[in-house]
Amino acid sequence: MTGDPEPAHREREAVAALADDFLSGLREWLTIPSVGADPAHHADVGRSAEWLASALRADGWPVVEVWDSGPALPAVHARWPSDDPDAPTVLVYGHHDVQPVDPVELWHTPPFEPVLVGEELFARGASDDKGQVAMHLLGVRAHLAATGRTSPAVNLVLFVEGEEESGSPHITRLLDEHRAELASDLIVFTDTPLYERDAPTVCTGQRGQYAADVVFTGGTSDVHSGRAGGGVPNPATALARLVAALHDDAGRVGLPGFYDDVAELSETERASWAELPFDEAAWLSANAGGAQAATGEEGFTTLERVWARPTAEVNGIAGGYTGPGGKTIVPASASVKLSFRLVPDQRPEHVADQLRAFVAAHTPPGVRAEVIERGAGAPPYAVDLTHPANLAVHDALEAALEQPVRFSRTGGSGPAAILHGWLGAPVVYLGVTLPGDRIHAPNERVVVPLLLRGAEAAAHLWRLLPGRLS
Ligand SMILES: [Zn+2]
Repeated sequence: MTGDPEPAHREREAVAALADDFLSGLREWLTIPSVGADPAHHADVGRSAEWLASALRADGWPVVEVWDSGPALPAVHARWPSDDPDAPTVLVYGHHDVQPVDPVELWHTPPFEPVLVGEELFARGASDDKGQVAMHLLGVRAHLAATGRTSPAVNLVLFVEGEEESGSPHITRLLDEHRAELASDLIVFTDTPLYERDAPTVCTGQRGQYAADVVFTGGTSDVHSGRAGGGVPNPATALARLVAALHDDAGRVGLPGFYDDVAELSETERASWAELPFDEAAWLSANAGGAQAATGEEGFTTLERVWARPTAEVNGIAGGYTGPGGKTIVPASASVKLSFRLVPDQRPEHVADQLRAFVAAHTPPGVRAEVIERGAGAPPYAVDLTHPANLAVHDALEAALEQPVRFSRTGGSGPAAILHGWLGAPVVYLGVTLPGDRIHAPNERVVVPLLLRGAEAAAHLWRLLPGRLS
């Protein structure tokens, strides 16, 4: 250490001094198989919450609670108030449940026995999301060490849920029960990746989602295609016509009113995305399962289509006889599973109404239609690029990574909009994982030096925010 390092260097030195301790703690946490989707692992979700609570207490967080009274799987809440009376309150959101590990035979090492190979740490949850939650614990320690403070420069509130990978089914209940404890001026969401290691970005939004099954039923049983065919409607044909009408030739979704609430992308944001390196073949193989061409709504680039345009997808379609040989029938029913990705300012409940109207308009006489919702959906969220907190995240990340940082979004969905809606605070995103981390897939990993830079960025952010938000 030299005489009077720049603030950024003090935080880097503090992170470096704590790095070994951070890594051994994270490895211990990753041995707990907190697979929320599997009831056989629900006790492990509880153990994972207790592990985190102990780590927070050991770090000196004055208030640490495990919320485990059900029906939500255990969540962890902690608070560390600032000594500064005017300090803003910041809620850090993450999750400690993990995805199932199947197919486990494709893992090169056991998913709950973390292995460090070079700079990569392999384990389920290393990237999504225990690594990034642990990154925040380190960030707070580095912030205090670097600034010599005994309390953070912002009032910190931590909320780490245990059901994110199951779609956060009880999050609104937790938010309702604990509204006072979670009240905040800003939400820092920590569950999104950088665009690329060599092209780092701050995420500024996520798409929302709405999903439903449509079932068309004709008679009470399949009927002979010779005896009745031509004289009755075929539910499978009717369903195919409905599916065909979901998009027009320009790739636009055919639900009446679907685009009424879609916010146009700003020229600034489009220009920022246009600067990102984009190789279509590489993108297809890394993100699109080897699809053979990038296509979609006319007038938009691929990144715009997946980050800022709404979609309708057929997830699966079923009906009639599909076994060996033939069977000459008019099937009694046919069904399709649909999902929609939504962008600001669409609302899942409006899309639900639009889908019902669309289905009604495409149901021929003699066919009965049912629309069966798969959950209430998730609203989309995006923060204004020029919001002072978003710019603070940008500057903190740029200082930590020592590279130019741009902006991106993610096409997936999460509870950011729900947190925003219940707590009334804007959401910003601090994430340093990579698209190549294989989250939800075998051989999930995290790049440890990036987690350390992320902790440094968090430490910068807590130092910067009071001035930026005042
Ligand atoms: Zn996650």
